Amino acid sequence: VLRNADLALYMVKDEGRGKAFFFTPEMSRSVQARLKLARDLRFAIENDALESRFQGQVDLRTGKVAGFETLVRWKHPTRGYVSPTEFIPVAESSSLICDIGLWILRDACRTGRAWLDAGEPERMISVNVSAAQIWQSEFETDVMTILEETGYPAHLLCLELTESVFADQGEGRVRKVLARLKAAGLRLALDDFGTGYSSLGYLNDLPFDELKIDRCFVAGVHNAPEKARLLQGIIALGRGLGMRVVGEGAEEEGEIALLRAYGCDFVQGFAYLRPETADDALRAAEQLEFRLAETAKDLNVMGDPFKKTA
Ligand code: C2E
Ligand code: MG
Ligand code: MG
Repeated sequence: VLRNADLALYMVKDEGRGKAFFFTPEMSRSVQARLKLARDLRFAIENDALESRFQGQVDLRTGKVAGFETLVRWKHPTRGYVSPTEFIPVAESSSLICDIGLWILRDACRTGRAWLDAGEPERMISVNVSAAQIWQSEFETDVMTILEETGYPAHLLCLELTESVFADQGEGRVRKVLARLKAAGLRLALDDFGTGYSSLGYLNDLPFDELKIDRCFVAGVHNAPEKARLLQGIIALGRGLGMRVVGEGAEEEGEIALLRAYGCDFVQGFAYLRPETADDALRAAEQLEFRLAETAKDLNVMGDPFKKTA
C-alpha cells in the first residue's frame, strides 16, 4: 500500500503538484516500463552501444553546409531504434543523461577532428546539452577535457541548450557556466526557440550566438499567412539581437523559400539533409553543395534581369 501510495504521489509531482491522485495499476505499469527502459539504457551506455548521426545545416546565402548537429541514436536489442524524444526524458530523470552527454560530445569532437585531418573545410559541430548536465555535473571541466583529449578546436564547437535550462533552479550557476564556456571560445545556441518558457529577457543578457527556431513555426508556413508573419517576426528578433538564426525542420521547398526571404541565415531540415552516419553525412553534404551550386549557375545562365552585362 505504501509503495503504491508513493507511486501516486510521484505521478502528482510529475503533473505539476497541487493535486491528489488515487493509485491505479496503470501507474505502476508505466513506472515499471520507464524503469526497464532506464536499465536497458544504462546497459547500452556501459557497453558502448549508442550511435551518433549528423545532420547538416545549410547556409542560405552561400549554399554551403556550414555545420552539423550531432544527434544520439540507440538501437534497443528487442525494440529496434528508440526515439531520443522517448529515452532522453528517461535519462534526464537520472544521472544517465550526463553519461550520454559526455559520450556524444566525445564522439562529435573525435569525428570533427577526423574530418579536419582529412582536409575537410572547417565546419561547426553542434551537440545538444540537457539542463541536468549543467545543474548536476562539472560540465565545463568535462568539455575542456574532451576538447583537449580529442584536439578539436573550441571555436568549431556549438552547444545547444533549450529554454528549460532556466526553469526552476540554478539560474546563477547556469549563467556562470555559460559565460565561462563562451570565454573559452565555444558557440552557444538556444534550441527549440519558442516552445518553452518564453521569457524574452534572457535573450538579451545571456551569451547566445545562435537562435534555432523550432520546427513548429516552420512547418507549413508557406500555406499559412499568419504563421508566416510570426516566423518573419521571430527571425527579425533573432537577427536584431545579432544572432545567427537557424530554421529547424524544413521539409518543403516553400518553407525554405520563405526562410530565405525573411533573412534566416541557416536551415536544417529534411528538405536538404537528414541525420546520417558520419561518412554518409559528409557525402550527402558534398552532393547537396554541388547540386545547389549547379542550380545557382542555371539561374545565372537564364539571366538576372537586374545584372548589367558588358
Ligand atoms: P533537436 O535538438 O531540436 O534536434 C532536431 C530534431 O529534429 C532531430 O530529431 C532531427 O532528426 C529532427 N529533424 C530535423 N529536420 C527535420 C525535418 O525536416 N522534419 C522533421 N519532422 N524532423 C526533423 P531527433 O534526432 O529525433 O531528436 C529529437 C530531440 O532529442 C532533439 O531535438 C533533442 O532535443 C533530443 N536529442 C537528440 N540527441 C540528443 C543528445 O545527444 N543529447 C540530448 N541531451 N538531447 C538529444
Ligand atoms: Mg538540437
Ligand atoms: Mg530543436
